[in-house]
Amino acid sequence: MRLPFRRAVITGGAGFLGSHLCGALLRRGVDVVCVDDFCTSAPENVRHLRPDPGFSLVRNDVSVALDVPGHVDLVMHLASPASPADYRLLPIATLRAGSHGTTNALELAARKQARFVLASTSEVYGDPHEHPQRESYPGNVDPVGPRSCYDEAKRFAEALTTAYRDNRRVDTVIVRIFNSYGPRMRAGDGRVVPTFICQALAGSPLTVAGDGSQTRSLCFVDDTIDGLLAAATRGHRGPVNIGSPEEVEVLALARRVKKLTGSASAIEFVERPPGDPERRRPDTTLAGELLGWRPRVSLDEGIGRTVSWFRRHRGTRPEVIG
Ligand code: NAD
Ligand code: UDP
Repeated sequence: MRLPFRRAVITGGAGFLGSHLCGALLRRGVDVVCVDDFCTSAPENVRHLRPDPGFSLVRNDVSVALDVPGHVDLVMHLASPASPADYRLLPIATLRAGSHGTTNALELAARKQARFVLASTSEVYGDPHEHPQRESYPGNVDPVGPRSCYDEAKRFAEALTTAYRDNRRVDTVIVRIFNSYGPRMRAGDGRVVPTFICQALAGSPLTVAGDGSQTRSLCFVDDTIDGLLAAATRGHRGPVNIGSPEEVEVLALARRVKKLTGSASAIEFVERPPGDPERRRPDTTLAGELLGWRPRVSLDEGIGRTVSWFRRHRGTRPEVIG
């Protein structure tokens, strides 16, 4: 895909999705300024990009300030804790990233007259009563619930992005990303795929929350990144769902990970976290129509590729605590 950008600022660029995004932009000839405070990641994630003359890394908390000298024609705002375990530890930083961080990223886009992409989330739908979730569904979120720091931060970020578009004429798009997984997730970030894979590889029990009948739709990172780039490039404002329509029960996922790793680990049923949504699957009709996007990597292939990566890197990468 040819991209109509010369220089992009990626906030949260050293994180799981951000690091893949930085690499994908550089491969397509776009210079990248990666801005990150490493609160849930480490510079290790982008070390392989550092020899590229088009890449620069800035350590900065975007909730405090964000300025980047020189030409910028794309701002992609990903900076935010994203794993439930992380945002439970960092609720105020999460709300600040969604509010102050989004304001600073939008102000940068306004100053530079750059296209702005908000990495929003399926969590804006909360524990949905509509299934699958269409972009028109307003959601079911408890503003003082256990996930509210993340859900409401993202909902506020969407409202702010809409206001900057309508009131300040910033060229924006909102992308609602559903559960994504792949290489470079932190082994201990608490999300289901890295947790199950690391448990299976270590031969320890796979910790299935509740009875494991809750569902998620898991999208391999390469597909998610293609969706984000398509949203950046096409002129639409969104919101648009990016995620896999392949819905899987958590218990079935645990069994699949066991099979794909050849692990003899037991399955252990543990307490379900409060506020854990019951079902989640995107309606991706709009992404198909507006962006010509659909995911290509099957769950088995994606999990297989992620397992290979964890086999190579397990125990060699830094773990970060808030
Ligand atoms: P991640 O935790 O791996 O990456 C987030 C990055 O943002 C980290 O590098 C972290 O250090 C950085 N960051 C956080 N607060 C910051 C701040 N104030 N200033 C600078 N940097 C900051 O998470 P991820 O999975 O890569 O998620 C990236 C974005 O995509 C997040 O906005 C998340 O809400 C969104 N998203 C992700 C998923 C998913 O399944 N991975 C799903 C929906 C939405
Ligand atoms: N989950 C689980 N065991 C784990 C981690 C997560 O059963 O060790 C479940 C979790 O309760 C949820 C689903 O897997 O129902 C997805 O959780 P994750 O934290 O990956 O993402 P999110 O809840 O934000 O969709």
